[in-house]
Amino acid sequence: MITKSIVNFSIRVLKRYFFYSTSQKWNRKTIEEYQNRMLIKVVKHAAQNVPYYRNLFREIKFNPNEFRGRVDMHKIPLLDKEILRTRQNEFIAENADKYGINWDSTSGSTGTPLHLIIDNSTKAHKLAAVLRSYQWAGYLPWKKTFSIQSYTFDNPEDISKHYRFVNLWRFNARLLSKDTAIEVVEMINNIKPTIFIGYPFSILMLSRFAKEQGLSIHPPESIVTAGETLSEQRRKLLEDAYNCRVFDFFSLHEDVAIITECSYQTKHICEDFAYNEIVDDHGQDASTRGIGEIVGTGFYNYAMPLIRYRLGDTVEIDNEIFFCKCGRHLKVVKKIIGRQNDYIETPDGRFLGNVLEHAIDNSKGVALSQCVQDAVDHIYLNLIIDDTFNDDSKVEMEKGLRDRLGNEIKIDFKIATELEKNKSGKTPFVMYKIGHEYL
Ligand SMILES: [Zn+2]
Repeated sequence: MITKSIVNFSIRVLKRYFFYSTSQKWNRKTIEEYQNRMLIKVVKHAAQNVPYYRNLFREIKFNPNEFRGRVDMHKIPLLDKEILRTRQNEFIAENADKYGINWDSTSGSTGTPLHLIIDNSTKAHKLAAVLRSYQWAGYLPWKKTFSIQSYTFDNPEDISKHYRFVNLWRFNARLLSKDTAIEVVEMINNIKPTIFIGYPFSILMLSRFAKEQGLSIHPPESIVTAGETLSEQRRKLLEDAYNCRVFDFFSLHEDVAIITECSYQTKHICEDFAYNEIVDDHGQDASTRGIGEIVGTGFYNYAMPLIRYRLGDTVEIDNEIFFCKCGRHLKVVKKIIGRQNDYIETPDGRFLGNVLEHAIDNSKGVALSQCVQDAVDHIYLNLIIDDTFNDDSKVEMEKGLRDRLGNEIKIDFKIATELEKNKSGKTPFVMYKIGHEYL
């Protein structure tokens, strides 16, 4: 049934979709002027209505009336996830009702949920910006879409749900197993979706399970990957398995960043959605130095504004290709390096993340792999192999890992048929199961 609130929401999304269709053509000057206007508005609003910021600004003697936008952002301290998690009520605007209250929770890799309010305007903005991202990958509302991510349906036992109105079929990635995969592959072959969206690992596993059963799987025109870092290896595997283009897409529940890939495989920061900075380990500006953690300030969430929020994701930025062939002037990210909290802790106290991927990237006969730490001095690798795998492959991998991890850690190899999922249903390359929380 189409209710009045659905109609209102659709109108709101449509208005914003037209905005994003226009703003993607802006030049640098217009982008930066818009960002300044939005930052000034949100900072003033936070100073007046949000207890955390009102107190913080008083403490650090920050005058919101003198704030000029981008050039003054460094005057506001960075916001850690832990502060938001432990003091979340202080981030809710006293006039939040006015903007609409929609609760959203994110479990995160460490398992402690973060509760957020996303107001009506932000909900519509996010959907409109996401639709634009999908459109860059060839999506149009009348094309059939299949999405595999972590979903909760009204009936928790349902593995999939069809949204007739938008031609969308959703499948819950947490329930992906050999048995359910066959059901889904058959469903896909009947529907013949034009676009696949979802966790790259899950989409890849569907093709592998299908192959094992001697089934072919309908190839979409394009795949949009979301929710997991897309390594070059995995991108290549997906392209080979489905013989189509793969577009990487990055966003987060906190709605302070969207990074999306255009048809020239350039990852653009959506600067009309949020203001993003890159900082080093000390929180200093690293935007000219290549690699750093991404920090975001949302423009639209007045019910619970987040200013200079540390995402915990590292990116490598590209200063050379500033003007992409697609004609957009939105800033460019060279590589999304991934979550910092997926790591291995070595006995000598180091934390290593995706660098381990290179150690086993090119190992012979290894189709998919995962590195799991279950004790400070023990890791094991889950390996999905093909018939070219042999003893030399193990020797090669162990050497690559030892170079990075040292000799104090015990390494085991497990031949697996499935990789392990974390609590949010994702399949990280590096899994840390010891239980400390560093975020
Ligand atoms: Zn581009």
